[in-house]
Amino acid sequence: MGNLRLEQLSKRYNEALAVAGVDLDVAEGELVALLGPSGCGKTTTLRMVAGFIKPTAGRVIIGGEDVTAKPPHARDTGMVFQSYALFPHMTVAENISFGLEMRKVGQAERDTRIAEVLRMVRLDHLSQRLPRELSGGQQQRVALARALVINPAVFLLDEPLSNLDAKLRGEVRLEIRNLQQRLGLTTLIVTHDQEEALTMADRLVVMDRGRVRQIGTAEDLYERPADAFVAGFVGRCNLIEGAVEADGQFRAGSGVLIPCATDTAKTAAGTIALRPERILLQAGSRPDQQSGVPARLSAVTYLGAQTEYHLDLGGLSLLAVQATPAGDDPLKGLRPGEPVTVSWDQAAARILPPT
Ligand code: ATP
Repeated sequence: MGNLRLEQLSKRYNEALAVAGVDLDVAEGELVALLGPSGCGKTTTLRMVAGFIKPTAGRVIIGGEDVTAKPPHARDTGMVFQSYALFPHMTVAENISFGLEMRKVGQAERDTRIAEVLRMVRLDHLSQRLPRELSGGQQQRVALARALVINPAVFLLDEPLSNLDAKLRGEVRLEIRNLQQRLGLTTLIVTHDQEEALTMADRLVVMDRGRVRQIGTAEDLYERPADAFVAGFVGRCNLIEGAVEADGQFRAGSGVLIPCATDTAKTAAGTIALRPERILLQAGSRPDQQSGVPARLSAVTYLGAQTEYHLDLGGLSLLAVQATPAGDDPLKGLRPGEPVTVSWDQAAARILPPT
């Protein structure tokens, strides 16, 4: 069984809770990414799963077995480190063989399995090289092969791509994802790179200061963030602080009324999350428009396919992103200082509880 379960997993260093009661279920064959700002507890969580850090409280369960008290080598996990951690004096084949020898696998089977994983990571022609004779991407593939060869129930990846340049990162990311899906590997990956997490993972865990803020698919997190922290962390977002007034309207702290779906009789104060691409822009001031809000352009940034519009709504700054206007679109050629009218589907302006 490849599934992984964390129950109230916690780690305290002196007075500080690095990980505070994390609950998580990773299904068999699923890839889950731990995502969050530096210091939020991702690595500590992963290392507790691997057995390198002893939890202060809680349990790690792999394939139905409580392994919390077991040392790393007695857990059915394979870990890939950010630094690769290859043995510099051993060849590629010897590096991969090491874990099998530790597990007392016989020579003939070792040779078969090494050849197999080398083919998987497309390094069969380099098996006799030393790590220093390989590129960064190749070294990382050796590290992957070394973890894969022991056929672990749970595959653990700690920032596996952060030492690679941008182009290679994209390639290796796809390779890992393909391999993981093809082999049905139950995988937990730590990354602080949003794009990496969003493109690779079946589900993501957003952490902040040791706690889980939200667990969900990329779409869940982007479209239905649980709170302002998640909304601000995953993708770009306008976060508008304010309060729902007695008449049911949301007034931003700056005083501007913000059209939104108010179903929150329960909270007076709140933060509205409004994604930049959900804001519709029209040139000129259009007082005739019911749901439109007058604004002024403070800056325009051309980014090729898209254009960013920085807006000032009576003291409230908002960012809008639209497909770059073409042809005789009145938005084309808009300059900072000019009036515009902005609107959005009210459902796109979600009131979230304050973080
Ligand atoms: P990063 O993305 O920067 O690697 P992270 O999310 O992986 O961060 P952790 O390395 O898990 O964060 O650290 C979580 C918190 O625990 C941090 O505040 C860190 O300073 C603290 N911490 C980690 N290891 C120790 C230690 N050995 N002793 C004391 N505090 C520690």
